[in-house]
Amino acid sequence: MNKNATLGTDLKSFIDEELIWSEIEKATNPEPSLVRDVIAKAKERKGLSPFEAAVLLKNKDLELDNEIFEAAIEVKKGIYGNRLVLFAPLYISNECANQCAYCGFNATNKDLERRTLTAEEIHKEVEVLEDLGHKRLLLVYGEHPKYDADWIAQTVRDVYSVTSRKSGEIRRVNINCAPLDVEGFRKLHEVGIGTYQCFHETYHQETYKKYHLAGRKTDYNWRLYAMHRAMEAGIDDVGMGALFGLYDPVFEVMGLLYHALQLEADCGVGPHTISFPRIEPAQNSDLALNPPFLSSPHDFKKIVAVLRLAVPYTGLILSTRENPETRKELLEVGVSQISGGSRTYPGAYSDPEYDRPEVQQFCIGDSRSLDETIRSIVGDHGYVPSWCTACYRLGRTGEHFMELAKTGFIQKFCLPNGLLTFKEYLEDYASEETKKVGEELIRNEIESYADPERRKLLTDRLSRMEKGERDLY
Ligand code: SAM
Ligand code: SF4
Repeated sequence: MNKNATLGTDLKSFIDEELIWSEIEKATNPEPSLVRDVIAKAKERKGLSPFEAAVLLKNKDLELDNEIFEAAIEVKKGIYGNRLVLFAPLYISNECANQCAYCGFNATNKDLERRTLTAEEIHKEVEVLEDLGHKRLLLVYGEHPKYDADWIAQTVRDVYSVTSRKSGEIRRVNINCAPLDVEGFRKLHEVGIGTYQCFHETYHQETYKKYHLAGRKTDYNWRLYAMHRAMEAGIDDVGMGALFGLYDPVFEVMGLLYHALQLEADCGVGPHTISFPRIEPAQNSDLALNPPFLSSPHDFKKIVAVLRLAVPYTGLILSTRENPETRKELLEVGVSQISGGSRTYPGAYSDPEYDRPEVQQFCIGDSRSLDETIRSIVGDHGYVPSWCTACYRLGRTGEHFMELAKTGFIQKFCLPNGLLTFKEYLEDYASEETKKVGEELIRNEIESYADPERRKLLTDRLSRMEKGERDLY
């Protein structure tokens, strides 16, 4: 890979704003025939160029928009089937030296109760999460000089060290922390993190400058090359994202796609996941209350659908920032991973007085418990919740995972593996109501398997689980 990518600050941004604007201009009011050509190409599941994505986003014809949604539903079903990966965020520290104008953790927010979890407190939080049935966590941190890569690595060890009281401990720890240098990322790689996630917030330089007022995060290029450095340190799976609401959403989607292309060109593989958080109200942030670029529900759904078509094998992550209604629509057109039962401040899961605005990063839109969320995605939408971590534990990450994904691997292996983790959930954690809808879904899934050998393999494993075995894949 490109060794210069170790630096970041010394490199030029690869986001060419002039090019992006000229492509957006060319894509504005596209001919219906062009939109249909792009949709046809997208259905081949080979992805779209940033310009082609802009053509779909700039289309105003509602009938064609519906064709875009249908294509996204088709591509999503074809690659991911009805499997949906679940995770929970775990906030470790809300101390932050940066001043991001949209965030409740902003250093100037004097009303926020600052807290950094101790090893014992992390332990407590993880026990609560495990007892709810979680297997995959996303650890979240503010950026503060007190807390370096060694300290972050130790918090990951603390999480992995908690032994479960029921069926299996946390099996994959992903990280959302400020960009590190290559050495720092190597330390995270060594303690076995799954995905390193970092959102660029806005790809538009001037807007980036306007809302990142102090601290390390003011450096646009340092952040832009974070994924390159993580990959150079050996972290195969990286997650990109943009915070929607700060700037023109079409520009941001193109920024994400150019970022993905550059990563693929330099490191041989693109992002494992893309997130598209929308700004939510946050304590003492006028910007978060009145974001300058709000997308309508229709336009936001289109952003998700177009991302699904543009990067068909990249996981799309939806958080509890969105309300249940929006989440339902977005799942259909492209989302493949969701968080459930989330709480957004350090210590929240073991806090008996949960829901205090003076500690959280932003207000969440979906406050249902994990069990309620699961009942709804299973009962109302027929999705199979999955906590599967088999690929990561068998070393199928990065480029290797992408190659497999393109051969229909997700349908063949991820779905049955996901079903096994769902069975584990039903056996050990689900409420009676959820268990009822879940068992019915499993029965229907087994019946839908045409291959008798695969059906037998799955039913054997399911009955071994009923007899007490766990963690089968
Ligand atoms: N401090 C690290 C950083 O900024 O990269 C990582 C943790 S930060 C808490 C994770 C993400 O939360 C940010 O990248 C940003 O996109 C998102 N975020 C911040 N304020 C938000 C808000 N008001 N609504 C929704 N998401 C927000
Ligand atoms: Fe700190 Fe991250 Fe919030 Fe910015 S977004 S204030 S860096 S926690």
